Amino acid sequence: MTSVSVRDLTLKFGSLEVLRTLNLDISEGEFLVLLGPSGCGKSTLLNCIAGLLDISDGQIFISGKNVTWEEPKDRGIGMVFQSYALYPQMTVEKNLSFGLQIAGVPKDEIARRIARASEILQIQPLLKRKPSQLSGGQRQRVAIGRALVRDVDVFLFDEPLSNLDAKLRAELRVELKRLHQNLKNTMIYVTHDQIEALTLADRIAVMKGGIIQQLDEPLTIYNRPVNLFVAGFIGSPS
Ligand code: ADP
Ligand code: MG
Repeated sequence: MTSVSVRDLTLKFGSLEVLRTLNLDISEGEFLVLLGPSGCGKSTLLNCIAGLLDISDGQIFISGKNVTWEEPKDRGIGMVFQSYALYPQMTVEKNLSFGLQIAGVPKDEIARRIARASEILQIQPLLKRKPSQLSGGQRQRVAIGRALVRDVDVFLFDEPLSNLDAKLRAELRVELKRLHQNLKNTMIYVTHDQIEALTLADRIAVMKGGIIQQLDEPLTIYNRPVNLFVAGFIGSPS
């Protein structure tokens, strides 16, 4: 079954056409990576799916429902950005529960979800701390936790590891992979890092200039790139 479907999506900023009649179907439970150089439109595509941008033309379906005109909060998605954007004055626990309280989720349900997310992400010992008392990797785990507690089927990640050092990136890569194997939810993951794409993805969509150049399994992209751009991008060191 299709989880996310993007139909003939066009997005313009003024006269600049950033995405051009883009089509993309993502299966339920798939880990899809959007890979491409800076400025190619990855974040723009993700933000369109999230409902953070008004699209110029086209439609977006999530779990079979046309959400093109739905508010972000009604789309059944959780999002994790490059910067952690945690509330500095709140404890980790409060950072996790805050959005759920506003949404009117019952207290015992909130407690259940926080317990589950903090077990998966191994952040139980951190719940009473403030963000300033956490390392970069711990903060990013909490940011992922905040998406997890929303209990949604589709997660959107925009370069969530790019602010971390190489060692932490490698560590969290393994955790993200494990997380996906446990949850079996749909992941759309933006990165410009080939290693991240090749290790995490079920399929990779390689983008250039707002157009998907190739959409295939990592090994196919690696072994049989469809053009010189894809070959050069996958082959070049990050
Ligand atoms: P990526 O995430 O792949 O680095 P983006 O989706 O952020 O690329 O940007 C794609 C293009 O759209 C770039 O040329 C960028 O300068 C432009 N762009 C992004 N956001 C805006 C905006 N809010 N207003 C105008 N142009 C934008
Ligand atoms: Mg971006």
